[in-house]
Amino acid sequence: MTIFQKIIDRQIPADIVFEDDQCLAFRDIHPQAPTHVLIIPRKAIPSLAQATDEDRTLLGHLLLVARTLAVELQIPNGYRTVINCGPDGGQSVDHLHVHLLGGRSLGWPPG
Ligand code: AMP
Repeated sequence: MTIFQKIIDRQIPADIVFEDDQCLAFRDIHPQAPTHVLIIPRKAIPSLAQATDEDRTLLGHLLLVARTLAVELQIPNGYRTVINCGPDGGQSVDHLHVHLLGGRSLGWPPG
């Protein structure tokens, strides 16, 4: 079981900022920006590579939640959404998640 599944199941604590029937959003434990939130589906999809056409609506929902949270968490100057996928993508937790980062000017290209 992944650490994110344990957060969904309330086996370990997290600073949850939003939840609904499809997803959960909580603050990253090692924030890379003043605002750094992870948005995860309740459905245990290991990575974007394992998402299927059935997940189309769910994936769209995660991005729209990111949009709403950017307003609620007051990062009006812009933000970045990131989905790391697989070893080269830098994914460290095998439960699909969208990073929402903001509150500072973010560099490009990423490392
Ligand atoms: P990734 O490297 O894209 O798989 O992102 C995983 C993220 O999960 C990292 O930014 C970690 O800091 C974060 N993370 C790991 N464990 C926890 C936790 N218990 N609570 C909140 N964030 C976590």
